[in-house]
Amino acid sequence: MKTALITGITGQDGSYLAELLLEKGYEVHGVKRRSSSFNTQRVDHMFQDPHVENNHFFLHYGDLTDSSNLTRIIQQVQPDEIYNLAAQSHVAVSFESPEYTADVDALGTVRLLEAIRLLGLEKKTRFYQASTSELYGLVQETPQKETTPFYPRSPYAVAKLYAYWITVNYRESYGIYACNGILFNHESARRGETFVTRKITRGLANIAQGLEKCLYMGNLDSLRDWGHAKDYVRMQWLMLQQQQAEDFVIATGVQYSVRDFIRWSAEELGIMLAFEGSGVEERAVVEHIQGDKAPALAVGDTVVKIDPRYFRPAEVETLLGDPRKAKEKLGWIPEITVQQMCAEMVANDLQIARSHALLKSHNYELVVAKEN
Ligand code: NDP
Ligand code: GDP
Repeated sequence: MKTALITGITGQDGSYLAELLLEKGYEVHGVKRRSSSFNTQRVDHMFQDPHVENNHFFLHYGDLTDSSNLTRIIQQVQPDEIYNLAAQSHVAVSFESPEYTADVDALGTVRLLEAIRLLGLEKKTRFYQASTSELYGLVQETPQKETTPFYPRSPYAVAKLYAYWITVNYRESYGIYACNGILFNHESARRGETFVTRKITRGLANIAQGLEKCLYMGNLDSLRDWGHAKDYVRMQWLMLQQQQAEDFVIATGVQYSVRDFIRWSAEELGIMLAFEGSGVEERAVVEHIQGDKAPALAVGDTVVKIDPRYFRPAEVETLLGDPRKAKEKLGWIPEITVQQMCAEMVANDLQIARSHALLKSHNYELVVAKEN
């Protein structure tokens, strides 16, 4: 039985990857942060009573800023594979907390690689680094592939650039099987609520059910190459199963705008939108309603407005990946289209919104976390 250690197991990708590895018969260990409230919702369904036999799923308290803790966990687990998915992963937040982002996203990576080396696990432990299309930032070539030069545009991307190169460097210096997955944006019903896709599906579902009035957005012209997280974690695993460690771009090769994603999400709710105005005055107005998913809305309602607060100090306007290398060497075929993913995300958020609306209609107090 192989043993894997996943940092960031409580996040979107960590939870899907843990499911995949358990299905494949791995013993799965995850690093979770101490938090004052529960932060394991995405992995609770995999939790097994540690007192029963045949338990294959274990969580360890840890933090990427704490090297002695990481070294101790790795010494104890002796993993065959480490997936470094933990990160302060939000680009906009990285402008607010650049130093912390560097500590976790950049230095956290070298802490793990050093632990492998100090424990003499160079030949045993394979290492996956969650690299990102944000490395391309101000794009130098379209579509972006493994050889495209990087030009990071945020403290997040700069920190991830260090992590990318230190992974390459430990591969070349110490012969560790270490590789970077340069993943383009990937989403799901488990996506963090403040990333753009989930903010849209959750916000519009809440508006449709009368829980919120209007969704405030940033740059609607931004273009992204969106895939489904479930498809992308398969590639993370495959990258560690090759003869030789290499870096791969994982993307769909198709891009859409934030505005497109708003339009599709609204249509899933039976709402046809018209976009009016331009720049900070742009807004989306309800033009037509079908079905019963949006009882709180009427034709003419404004459901999306621009709030410049969500503009970034430096924007990544366009990302489009070229996944040919992954197709050829890993047999990469994404199974879920962006439209199917959008439908899944809206259905999930509509179900949550409906149950909140039902509680509200019976005068139970409702706590809806505000988007950021
Ligand atoms: P999430 O934000 O959903 O998950 C991040 C995880 O990292 C969470 O488990 C979080 O814990 C954990 N974490 C954050 N800070 C620390 C810390 N100091 N110590 C230990 N753990 C920490 O991200 P995703 O699952 O979407 O992404 C996974 C990885 O892939 C990230 O590194 C991200 O930057 C990268 N990536 C993601 C892309 C995407 O589109 N999703 C695209 C390209 C790269 P907690 O739950 O407690 O917050
Ligand atoms: P990113 O590509 O890692 O930054 O992922 P996000 O999902 O956070 O953002 C994708 C794009 O959507 C970026 O270009 C953002 O500027 C744009 N965007 C527009 N409005 C918003 C918003 O309200 N929230 C977020 N998170 N992004 C927004």
